Amino acid sequence: MSVPATPPTSATSSAAAQARAVQSRDTTPQDLTAATLARIEAARDLNAVLSVNPHAAAQAAQVQARLDAGEPLPLAGVPVIVKDNINVTGTATTSGSRILRGYVSPYDATAAARLVQAGAVIVAKANMDEFAMGSSTENSAYGPTLNPHDPARVPGGSSGGSAVAVAAGLSAVSLGSDTGGSVRQPAAFTGVYGLKPTYGRVSRSGLIAYASSLDQIGPFARSAEDLALVMNVIAGHDPLDATSLHAPPAFTAGTPDDLRGLRVGVITESLAGNTPGVEATLNATLDALRGAGATVAEVSLPELRYAIAAYYLIAMPEASSNLARFDGMVYGQRAPGSDVTEAMTLTREQGFGPEVQRRILIGTYALSSGYYDAYYSKAMKVRRLIADRFTQAFGQFDVLVTPTSPFPAFRRGEKTSDPLAMYAADVDTVAVNLAGLPALSVPAGFETVDGTPLPVGIQFIAPALHDERLVQVAGALEGIGLAQPQVAPGY
Ligand code: GLN
Repeated sequence: MSVPATPPTSATSSAAAQARAVQSRDTTPQDLTAATLARIEAARDLNAVLSVNPHAAAQAAQVQARLDAGEPLPLAGVPVIVKDNINVTGTATTSGSRILRGYVSPYDATAAARLVQAGAVIVAKANMDEFAMGSSTENSAYGPTLNPHDPARVPGGSSGGSAVAVAAGLSAVSLGSDTGGSVRQPAAFTGVYGLKPTYGRVSRSGLIAYASSLDQIGPFARSAEDLALVMNVIAGHDPLDATSLHAPPAFTAGTPDDLRGLRVGVITESLAGNTPGVEATLNATLDALRGAGATVAEVSLPELRYAIAAYYLIAMPEASSNLARFDGMVYGQRAPGSDVTEAMTLTREQGFGPEVQRRILIGTYALSSGYYDAYYSKAMKVRRLIADRFTQAFGQFDVLVTPTSPFPAFRRGEKTSDPLAMYAADVDTVAVNLAGLPALSVPAGFETVDGTPLPVGIQFIAPALHDERLVQVAGALEGIGLAQPQVAPGY
């Protein structure tokens, strides 16, 4: 399972270091791409990658040519792995679903296009829960992704492949998408950073939609500097996304000085039900923040107890609408049928996995006349109450803190037969999406379970459009030795 040791400019170093090495001609985009492909091959048993970009080598050569022509490229030659629900020209794009097997994207998502424009090479597509529905990457039609810290455990989800790509050092940075926690929770389970930006900060154009009012693309990284580097490239207004905001990115990694006077609110509702290791990591984080000059106080957001119910009653109806387009007529697989109705029915029956079918059914039900008011419309009211409560809390605090998850990575199969237990795993993350806020999972410690140290993540939440503050805090926490992003032992 272990991957051979690699030279300093391979995927185990930071994206910033890779770009500097390329810019100073100490390595080439072609060599970095080849090293990344070799690591992907060596780590195949993790099942983090669904396909490699057949155009990666050509893209690397193009980057070299642009460098030789004197173009300044902030991500010069940096290999990036992106979640398989993000369209990349000429790559297989399945969204983890059988229904899109064989689909090759004809265009780039804006986030992917911006990476390439900045000199990155998109080397591969990462495994994920089918259509981003799940919390463990076990709902992928292409088999589960394993956690490099303990292969018997899940890496979290739905962006499990992207998290593992960074945690196992296949690439320094990757992209995922976060609808209810899908960047932050896998980041927590694998010991890396995962940032969910403010809704509208990163374009959703070319992201295969799950629940459009909640979806955001976000980066995984092993340093605050790399988070800043990637966000400065992918964030910013995009005319192709009607919900995209005019807020030019200005990300920098902070220093411990940034913690002085920072007003930190710990959300009371997140303090119950945590494992001892999660509780200890949260307390150690709060102590470290106090020690660095921050003020820490508790704040209660009582409406958070309805967050899971409201989230699933909004996400599933949106999914039922968004997934109507997958009927075998335009994209991907088509089952043979004697007429169009039969062909569509069989395509959807055979193409969608059980969790996706469950959500389409529940979502359609919750939107149907007679039930709309009882479910969807009520959930939308709760959504507003939660958003208002956050706004109120940010009158007193600069950032809010919770564990990213009440427990570290669970065992594969542990929750697959109990959908409600799987949904409940998102208790600390979904409210942030309902309110459209930015939040970052910081790898802040470990909990040893059955003799294996498992990463624990702490979530920092900022007011809308203050994503920059989170990356600043991340850099500050690295400065005081608290944030410990690293490649999993053995990789
Ligand atoms: N686990 C949540 C869900 O299944 C969140 C998924 C996500 O953020 N894409 O809906």
